Amino acid sequence: MSTVHPPRSTAEALLADGTTVGIRPLGPRDHQAVLDLHTTGMSEESRRMRFFGVSRNAPGQAADRLCGPPRPGLLALGAWMGEELLGEADCEPLDDPPETAELALAVADHWHGRGVATLLLEHLVHAARAAGIRAFEADTLFGNRAVHKVFADLGLPVQRCFAHGEVRLRVPLEETDERYRAAVDERGRRADLASLAALLRPASVAVVGASRREGSVGRTVLGKIRQGGFTGPVWAVNPHADEVGGERAYPSVGALPAVPDLAVLAVPAAAVPGVAEECGAVGVRALVVLTSGLGPQEARRLMRACRRHSIRLVGPNSLGMAQTEPAIRLDAEFGGAFPRPGSAGVAVQSGGVGIALLSRLAWLGIGVSSFVSLGDKYDVSGNDLLQWWEADGRTDLALLHLESFGSPRAFARTARRVTRTIPVLTVDAGRSTAGRRGAASHTAAAATPTVTREALFRQAGITATRSIEELVEAAALLHAQPLPAPRSAVAVVSNAGGIGILAADACVEAGLELPELPVELGDLLPPGASVRNPVDTTAAVRPTELALFLRALEREEAVDAILVCLAPTALCATPAQEPVRALLEAPARRRVPIAAVLLDQQVPVRYRGCADGGMLPAYSDTLAAARALAHARDRARWLAEAPSVPAEAPDCDRRTARSLVDGYLTTHPEGGWLDPLTTADLLEAYGLPLTTTVWARDEHAASVAATGLRRLGHEGKAVMKAYWPGQVHKSALGAVRTGLATDAEVRCAYREFTQKFGPQLAGAVVQPMAAPGVELLAGVVQDRVFGPLVVLGAGGTAADVLADRVARLAPLSERDLTTMVTELHSAPLLSGGAGAPPVDLAAVRSVLARLSRLADDLPELVEADLNPVIARPDGALCVDARVRLEPRPSFDPYLRRLRRPAATEGEWAP
Ligand code: ADP
Ligand code: MG
Repeated sequence: MSTVHPPRSTAEALLADGTTVGIRPLGPRDHQAVLDLHTTGMSEESRRMRFFGVSRNAPGQAADRLCGPPRPGLLALGAWMGEELLGEADCEPLDDPPETAELALAVADHWHGRGVATLLLEHLVHAARAAGIRAFEADTLFGNRAVHKVFADLGLPVQRCFAHGEVRLRVPLEETDERYRAAVDERGRRADLASLAALLRPASVAVVGASRREGSVGRTVLGKIRQGGFTGPVWAVNPHADEVGGERAYPSVGALPAVPDLAVLAVPAAAVPGVAEECGAVGVRALVVLTSGLGPQEARRLMRACRRHSIRLVGPNSLGMAQTEPAIRLDAEFGGAFPRPGSAGVAVQSGGVGIALLSRLAWLGIGVSSFVSLGDKYDVSGNDLLQWWEADGRTDLALLHLESFGSPRAFARTARRVTRTIPVLTVDAGRSTAGRRGAASHTAAAATPTVTREALFRQAGITATRSIEELVEAAALLHAQPLPAPRSAVAVVSNAGGIGILAADACVEAGLELPELPVELGDLLPPGASVRNPVDTTAAVRPTELALFLRALEREEAVDAILVCLAPTALCATPAQEPVRALLEAPARRRVPIAAVLLDQQVPVRYRGCADGGMLPAYSDTLAAARALAHARDRARWLAEAPSVPAEAPDCDRRTARSLVDGYLTTHPEGGWLDPLTTADLLEAYGLPLTTTVWARDEHAASVAATGLRRLGHEGKAVMKAYWPGQVHKSALGAVRTGLATDAEVRCAYREFTQKFGPQLAGAVVQPMAAPGVELLAGVVQDRVFGPLVVLGAGGTAADVLADRVARLAPLSERDLTTMVTELHSAPLLSGGAGAPPVDLAAVRSVLARLSRLADDLPELVEADLNPVIARPDGALCVDARVRLEPRPSFDPYLRRLRRPAATEGEWAP
């Protein structure tokens, strides 16, 4: 049986209506609560459904079973709101070793229909899976519609068997099935939206800590809310003043004429938790905390108040938020000007970045749908806002600034869905964290934080930029122009040849293609013009000629995007003669996107209004324009790719792998590197192709092993490697001997090992010599926050020097497999580009898919390094593998639970 990891003491999660509840295992102190649930909490009819009869003793027996003396294998979870137990779900093994568990479920009558049962079941599924349970079974009365609906909605397959008015349900748990994850996602999405409404569409607002002092944060925000024309009532709360800014102030939130939906807090750090508690007690459902500098104790108390009272929290250390929706018009921030209403959703972690971003968008003319300064992000995060924007019917562009990720895997999953409908752009901060030097495996060396974040963005279809400028430049194009075709062949047109060449260079460097253009187009241009791409129209081109030419270019099959670079020329005596007119007078909403580079423009990017009301993004720099086009191309490609399906890894023997891992961790509670044979067994369980590896603890054993293995080896040869625990890279130390053709050579090599490595030598592994091929590195490392990262690279002993690798976060999709093998610089070696025959790519893909599955199934597998995997036309074979295990709790990143911010780490319960 596997190590049982009971779910963390308490997790909080949202019910369907956005209410926060706590989920925790039931224990002896819950006896009375369980009894109450089954008596006062349930009608006679509910009890009959639950217990198949109205035995008076049933509730007491249930309480004894769940909260009495420990029962082996019992998993029992309760959903709580404060001291009230809303429902319980439990399962108890029916067999030994436990594989099938009898499931029971009870929800208090007045909590029916709010998603308590599904939420409990999701958490129980997680706990049961971690305990090795493979199926739930439950007897239900035929007429128990409520329970049958809960099971139908759950998203897991349910088998039914009818007998004597009862229905025996069986729910297999083994497969991490996409339908289940999607059902969980959908419930999570709805609950999240319901909980965010008080924050993003509040009907009334209170500013707590609105001081009389002008220029103070609270006073400023209060003034801005009023000036912004908030459509509902806004109240000032200040215990020390009767009026603020000429209007009445109330001494406390409790003293307000009505309960505000949202409270904005600008009180000293020490007062924040108390005010939050007070807000919660009267029924406030959303807080924006502007205060910064909360200590750990204050942070925990604030979180506790929010969770206990179903409050969604922005901040602390937030600059505020703005909602431009005409029915709301809320300007609750103290950063800059109230943004113009529009369609860009903006969420930033740093207030400063928020100010910069809003002012640039305002200047450019892109309006904002909603803006949230997330601050220290205790609760509301980029993930929440993506879901909001996806559904608000106003947002068509999402702009995020993220320094940290609370739940990157949940975020990636949301983003992957949202990016299908709207572009999501991010400015990626924190790239410069130094790489991991001195890592003990090539895979670990490859897995820098940058690589990990890039993998996330890449897999989620997020447009990642490196600066606020780059973000705005890309947004300008995506917002106003159509997407190019995925191929993105760009026609570069300029009226000054030199600029055209620079622009062409910038495009090629950004990975864009420059197609050849038909020579006939030249007839539209003045004599001396060149229609080789880049097109040089010469400075003599007239606006009408340029307009005609561009229109013809747009109709060209070979052209997917146009970049027009214009220098002002001395020939333009009047503005009407400026060549840029030609661009502006043509219709702006075109078949292909057009971007301009205007050499006399002072600002990096601006819109030029077109005659038809459309907008043409004009850049001052060729690099910026090319980069923006490349981002648009990446998005076009992302949309063109089929939505990802999980990579297939058939016939993985999870049980064997699990027992190997549990066995190792029992004898090595701290974890460590597996010995070569356990490594081989583990990889074999997941179908990873490790070459035959035989252990030899002395010269004689080595000789015997090699005699057998040479016959399997390339050219009848064997390979021998010295082994001792804790070794890192072997060949550099002379611990690898390849090409051993005779018994004498094997014995001699073993003796050399003994001399060289002395008493530390534990023995040697002997393998058949593999035929030569392309040496690849394939590996996986677990990131504590991001989960497993799968790496593919150029391999062999020079792997770190070559540093040619690609990485993706598990679970990999079929599309990830494809892009991984094609994005390597050494990809041509695999596809037969360098004269060699193409290798068996399916075999390489299978290695990656299996590694992904292995790490996803076994969180304890913190590092696996397969180097080299020798790829050949007839398959892929790994000749060297290292695996490291560490005790780690089983963790389901998709389980619905609210995040616990790092700042509030430690034990606390609502
Ligand atoms: P390390 O990575 O610790 O230095 P390896 O076991 O990867 O040691 O061996 C180093 C190199 O020796 C490999 O990159 C590969 O080129 C070669 N090699 C190792 N084992 C075999 C084998 N069984 N067949 C063919 N070549 C091998
Ligand atoms: Mg190696």
